[in-house]
Amino acid sequence: MKMIYKPQEYRIKDERMKPFIDESEIWEILNNTQVSADNVRAIIKKSLAKNRLSLQETAVLLKAEDPELIEEIKAGARTLKEKVYGDRIVIFAPLYIGNKCVNNCTYCGFRASNKKQHRITLSDEQIKMEVKALEDTGQKRLILVYGEHPMYDADFIADSVRSVYKVKSANGEIRRVNINAAPLDVEGYKKVKEAGIGTYQIFQETYHREAYAKYHISGKKKDFNWRLTGLDRAQEALIDDVGIGALFGLYDWKYEVLGLLRHVNHFEACYNVGPHTISFPRVKAASDSNIDEKYEVSDEDFVRLVAILRLAVPYTGLILTAREPQELREEVIRLGVSQIDAGTNIQLGGYSEDSAKKQDLEMEQFEIGDTRSLAEVIDELIEKQYLPSFCTACYRKGRTGEHFMEFSVPGFIKRYCAQNAILTLAEYLEDYATSEVKEKGYQLIDVKIKELKDIQKIDDLLDRLKLVKAGERDLYF
Ligand code: SAM
Ligand code: SF4
Repeated sequence: MKMIYKPQEYRIKDERMKPFIDESEIWEILNNTQVSADNVRAIIKKSLAKNRLSLQETAVLLKAEDPELIEEIKAGARTLKEKVYGDRIVIFAPLYIGNKCVNNCTYCGFRASNKKQHRITLSDEQIKMEVKALEDTGQKRLILVYGEHPMYDADFIADSVRSVYKVKSANGEIRRVNINAAPLDVEGYKKVKEAGIGTYQIFQETYHREAYAKYHISGKKKDFNWRLTGLDRAQEALIDDVGIGALFGLYDWKYEVLGLLRHVNHFEACYNVGPHTISFPRVKAASDSNIDEKYEVSDEDFVRLVAILRLAVPYTGLILTAREPQELREEVIRLGVSQIDAGTNIQLGGYSEDSAKKQDLEMEQFEIGDTRSLAEVIDELIEKQYLPSFCTACYRKGRTGEHFMEFSVPGFIKRYCAQNAILTLAEYLEDYATSEVKEKGYQLIDVKIKELKDIQKIDDLLDRLKLVKAGERDLYF
């Protein structure tokens, strides 16, 4: 089979900052790919050996329609998840800072023409109240979210990041702030980098120009190429930790999976490292939204697409959000998700107002499917023997932009990720859990420590665990 995945080849073609999506290339691959059971199995095997898949190999998985083969693809993804990521799940929460917006994305409740939306921009004081409320539940990692508006420029974003880091509560502080905002220019990215951000996330929404034009009818976001090259400018500003995504439901889902993969290839060709994370939100109900149902992605196809993404990019983090309902989240997590949000409330000011369970679409961007509290999600994860992690160590130790180290450096996961997950879970159990969850959590930690018993410095971990129990905080490797 002809290999399409060749970063070297893309390096010649994809000069930095140049739009690199070619619709006909993607459709040609999708249309010309033949599927056979042997081929599907060989490709799953290649992925299980932790190899990246080419666009063409991924197309084979996308085009496999035989239910038996689909089950094999899902089983492959589950195995890969266990093999590569183990049972850690990193936890974060979104914090919406402002919903003013000059764009008109027809699927979004924040769009400029939606007069029903209450427009709110959190003041410094309100940001502090929100962060305090989040810290009081045990959160350590946030993603700040903004509409696109002249008011939310790079200085504003940088100031809000600094405000978040300043809030110290009795039991802790936010240790990592990621961003989901409009694409900036290079100078803008430099300013937000200086404020100490983790990942800068921009979703392309759809990688198909015509569909993009249909859904982005006015405002700066109308410019497909400005958005597509948004994270190249971040790289220019030395932000090497970036997240990409597609909004599923705007165009053909198989095309979008290949679009995401093409974006990964571009990064690998130009910067020698792919994006840190891929997000795959599905369009949800929003105030006054207008979406063509033709491309709606069923639950069944959603599960398939996550499994295929897992197999296509074994080393890229996959983020699943609370847009999806609890049961589906549980199924999809098993297929290879590495990060989820929990305790999510996307209403502006919603965390400190405790509007938790009541959703009001005129106060938020879209409807979420999983409204459980952080405590409920953690309890559930522990019950299912997942290891919830609030780890922020790599970013704080400067181990960024090379997230694949986790997988390429022998023993990295055991040495760092697993131990840091244990230490951050222990902090959570000490500071926020009920006695029942605390007991279950420490039983889980015992099991995980036994799995680590062959690592060199297990005594270091045990010592630090004792210190956490004695009241010390923020210990990490
Ligand atoms: N305003 C910035 C932008 O558009 O890039 C920041 C991010 S926006 C607030 C966050 C993301 O939410 C968008 O990139 C889009 O993918 C997603 N989104 C918007 N409307 C949605 C809807 N109705 N359902 C699900 N996700 C939606
Ligand atoms: Fe504005 Fe972002 Fe919503 Fe588009 S998706 S209307 S840019 S907030």
